[in-house]
Amino acid sequence: MSTLSPSVHPECQDLLAEISRMSNTGGWFYDVVHNTLHWTEETYHIYGLEIDTPITPKKAIEFYTPASKAIIEQCFNNALQEGKNYEVDVEFNDASGNFKWVRTTGKVVRKNGKISHVYGAIEDITKERQLLLQERNTSQYLEKVINNLNDAVITVDETGVIISANKTTERIFKCKTDDLIDKNVTVLMPKAHAKLHAKYISNYLTTGNAKIIGVGRELPARKLTGEEFPMELSLTEINIQNKRIFIGIIRDISEKKAAISRIYNLAYYDSLTQLPNRRSFENDVTGILKKAKLTGLDIYCALLDIDCFSEINLIYGQSVGDSVIKKVSEKIQETVPMNFRLYRNMADSFFLLYQTPLSPLDESINRRIKRLEKKVSSLAWKDVEIDTHHQAMTLSIGSLRIPAAEVDNEKLIQLLEFSSNQAKSIGLNQCIMLDKQTRQQHERQTLIRYSMLPALEKGEFSIMLQPQYSVDLQPKASEALIRWNSEALGFISPDEFISLAEENGDILIIGDWVINEVCKLAADLQNDNIDVRIAINISAKQIVQPDFGTLLLERIQQWNVNPARIMLEITESTLVKNIDLVRKQMLELSEKGLSFSIDDFGTGYSSLRYLKELPINELKIDRYFVEEINDENVEIPIVNTIIEMAKALGVETVAEGIETQAQLTYLKRHGCNYFQGFYLNKPMPIEQWKTLLQSTKKTQKHSQSDK
Ligand code: C2E
Ligand code: MG
Ligand code: MG
Repeated sequence: MSTLSPSVHPECQDLLAEISRMSNTGGWFYDVVHNTLHWTEETYHIYGLEIDTPITPKKAIEFYTPASKAIIEQCFNNALQEGKNYEVDVEFNDASGNFKWVRTTGKVVRKNGKISHVYGAIEDITKERQLLLQERNTSQYLEKVINNLNDAVITVDETGVIISANKTTERIFKCKTDDLIDKNVTVLMPKAHAKLHAKYISNYLTTGNAKIIGVGRELPARKLTGEEFPMELSLTEINIQNKRIFIGIIRDISEKKAAISRIYNLAYYDSLTQLPNRRSFENDVTGILKKAKLTGLDIYCALLDIDCFSEINLIYGQSVGDSVIKKVSEKIQETVPMNFRLYRNMADSFFLLYQTPLSPLDESINRRIKRLEKKVSSLAWKDVEIDTHHQAMTLSIGSLRIPAAEVDNEKLIQLLEFSSNQAKSIGLNQCIMLDKQTRQQHERQTLIRYSMLPALEKGEFSIMLQPQYSVDLQPKASEALIRWNSEALGFISPDEFISLAEENGDILIIGDWVINEVCKLAADLQNDNIDVRIAINISAKQIVQPDFGTLLLERIQQWNVNPARIMLEITESTLVKNIDLVRKQMLELSEKGLSFSIDDFGTGYSSLRYLKELPINELKIDRYFVEEINDENVEIPIVNTIIEMAKALGVETVAEGIETQAQLTYLKRHGCNYFQGFYLNKPMPIEQWKTLLQSTKKTQKHSQSDK
């Protein structure tokens, strides 16, 4: 059946056929009376049948899938029996087995009250269905994705009313999404924040300004259970059907924040005392210095150190030591006012920092600070409980009030350490606030520390020699004394720079230079046949080096010097403190022919036993004992004892620092062997010294030939 009505114009029939093809819609017509079914071309096409293939309702129904077949049968029967029109979407397999979706309609025509025909359309809606399915799949897919995000995704309208929330919202905010829909988003905010929210929104809607749109931001959030937590919120705005919708993506960052704070604590807090640590101190100092520098203000800080703490560790062990540090830190903390911050530096030392810069004109605060220092240093530490008893403990404090413009972080810590060392060097429980003069002294020391090696390179060091005479006033030996005439700082005494060189280790290089100079000099004298021994001062740091002896012997060999012409002066305190290391070196070197003098004897509490077992040739009576001799007839027991002791040990004595005839006479009378001091000769430059020795040699020759 390709035509619908003989009255339709043939061209219009073609047109209808074309529309039918384009819209994938065929027609059908069932004659109830004759029980015949008629299809249009497109219907055959949809069924996949050749045009004019004989067709019956029963046959046509066979093409439907079982479920659809039931539906279509029902619809068709209803039409025939009850005259009901229908329109259904059903599933269908065409003659070639292709699955299709069709929309089929049926309309009933009555003649004389009786149903004479049923006709309808059949539309292939497979593509439409597939699209629908695809769309549904996509939206299901997206929904699944959104629900499985780790972040809550909430959409709100411009009045703040929640439109949707994903599943994760339930987990993060401890609620059901249904409880949120249609509620204002402020239910998810802490009260204080919720109050401001409406203002933010209205401001945004009127001005279009919002700091938060498009950027992630950390804000406080509130679970429906009331618990608050930190969230990271990123907000975007979209427009759907002319309505502004805000999409909020919310991440619970409690764990992240906890981890960051754990890391921060590890980095900036001390785990034992829970006090901020040295790094925190440095950070805070940087901040306060910056502020104070801008306004020309001072800063105050202090370094606190528990007195004799190493003994506690040694006697009771480290864990008791730790608990003492903790208790002490708590006590200090209780004592210092709020605007002072306490930090643990390391081991038993703490920093104290006044949190605000001080006006240089404000002197009154110094008194308060000093009172505080005194209080902190001598707190009634009696109740620091160690094991089962209470230990009295004190602190030493080195502090500093300084114009911020004069220091940086590093220098500040150096000055504090210097000040603390000064306090410790006086004794227990001392507080020292560095004054300008002491600061300058420290600055000079720092300069010296860094200048020694460059000065050595520049040739600023030299050697002076001070002769030591025998009883008949013949120069038997000389002490080599180093001199530093610095271009920048002027003359610097060895008393000032040797201890600094010992501290920073430069003494090893400087000491080697002295040894080399002395060997060179000794070689010179050997060639001139002048028989004099040269004494070299050796620092503790030098002699405890395992290769000290080897290097010294190398120098001696290098200059071809007779080792008997070299004497090493070691102070008594070096000997006492490092006896095991020193003994070994002394024994080896003495075997090679070098001799030893114990410098500053009488000040170092050495025991007789040590002295007996060491290869000592001479004891040098310290000049402070020699100074005691004012009158040659007044006995000075300590001097007598040293000389007697030396005799008992079978070693010689030399007295240093002789400044008067009375001292010389006294020492000679009491049996001292050699004499050194300004009264006889001051230390002199090499040339002058050589001339002195040469002239003595001539006099000796003359007197020998006179005899
Ligand atoms: P020291 O070894 O006890 O040296 C004796 C010091 O007393 C020297 O001071 C000397 O100039 C001084 N002196 C000598 N006679 C008199 C006197 O009659 N009256 C007074 N008031 N002083 C006198 P100097 O040269 O300033 O050396 C000081 C210290 O520096 C030395 O004490 C020594 O410990 C150390 N020193 C000097 N040169 C060297 C060196 O080359 N290496 C090492 N490691 N230390 C050295
Ligand atoms: Mg000496
Ligand atoms: Mg001495």
